[in-house]
Amino acid sequence: MSRPGKSAAPARPASFAFRLTLLILGLLVVLLVLLLLIFAGKGASADAADLLALPETVTPSAQTAAVTPAATEDPDRLILSNLTPTPAASGEWLDTWPAASSVETVHDSSALIAALKGRSQSSQALQGVTVFVDPGHGGQDSGTVYPQESPYEAVEKEVNLAVGLKLKSALEALGASVIMTRTDDSWVSVYSRAAQVGQTILDQVTDSLKNTGKDLSQFESLKTAMTEIQTTNLDEGGGGILGGLGSGADARLLYDTERQFPEYLFLSLHCNYSDAGADIGGLQIYYVDNAYNYEFTRDSTADGYDLPPVYQYFNDEGRKKLVDCLQSAIIRQLPELTTTGGPQTILQEGFVVLNRMGIDSALVEMGFFSNADDRVLLLSDSGQTELAQALAQSVYSYYCE
Ligand SMILES: [Zn+2]
Repeated sequence: MSRPGKSAAPARPASFAFRLTLLILGLLVVLLVLLLLIFAGKGASADAADLLALPETVTPSAQTAAVTPAATEDPDRLILSNLTPTPAASGEWLDTWPAASSVETVHDSSALIAALKGRSQSSQALQGVTVFVDPGHGGQDSGTVYPQESPYEAVEKEVNLAVGLKLKSALEALGASVIMTRTDDSWVSVYSRAAQVGQTILDQVTDSLKNTGKDLSQFESLKTAMTEIQTTNLDEGGGGILGGLGSGADARLLYDTERQFPEYLFLSLHCNYSDAGADIGGLQIYYVDNAYNYEFTRDSTADGYDLPPVYQYFNDEGRKKLVDCLQSAIIRQLPELTTTGGPQTILQEGFVVLNRMGIDSALVEMGFFSNADDRVLLLSDSGQTELAQALAQSVYSYYCE
């Protein structure tokens, strides 16, 4: 592979020519030697930069010529070294991570993603795709309820699970694999849900690379962090490396790794409630893009508070496409869920299941318990089935259309 960057190898013939010139033009000896020294120094530092960016393309001669610390020349290294945050822009105070991966390519699904495009809707259309289906709340956390005092007619955690299980069947019927973040009425913290994504993808990375001799220690330590978060299983204080505002270097490594798995999606299912009136109803879908992640982080804490840098390498295009597919598929199937009474249909919010994972994710508020029509739909078996079918259809649209 040829690269435009300077390297030590082409510098050698040039220096040989210069040396012939030196023999003829003796007066310039000192000056040219000085120039060669400067040139050699620049060549070495350019090699060092290339080694950090693309270690797999380094040739043995370039490796021996480059004057760099041994660690950055290690061909088994998978974590790139562009870990320096970008300083805050003028007038701002939050540092950001560069919008670039800090992890070398450890997984390439571009052929699969291309093959999915244009597939007709058959039993195997989504083969190769994995969807995390996340029924919100559970256990001691009921979510919202109707009416607001017991006895309850509607309990959010139950509706979310019922639709989630139907969605699992609908997606599997299209050939997708499904991972449920919960399959019963158990309590699962929001961080644990995000850690399930990390654990699944890290397992795949370490499995696929285990016999390659690559240095997997940082992936293994991320897996330990994911296990701890799931064991702790607390919304408050259970975030581990996924907790707090901003993202530490470990979290960034995780999100960058997850981002290499576009065949994975995360769909969080919820039901809404509004105190502002029973006429407010219909669908709301939440997501997070890079610009919003910055705004949310900045607006969530006091000016100047020392935070880790803000992650800026979410797949904006994919995330927006996902919410658009959700909206059109759900409204096509259930036009009565068109948002009424004022609120927007598509919104951004800093939910953990949206801004603590590198795969594309969305949170769907499937209707309002405070709206009578929505409530009937959400509580009926046929309404739940139609919702599940529409959600599965949006995953098909996302990958295949
Ligand atoms: Zn909810």
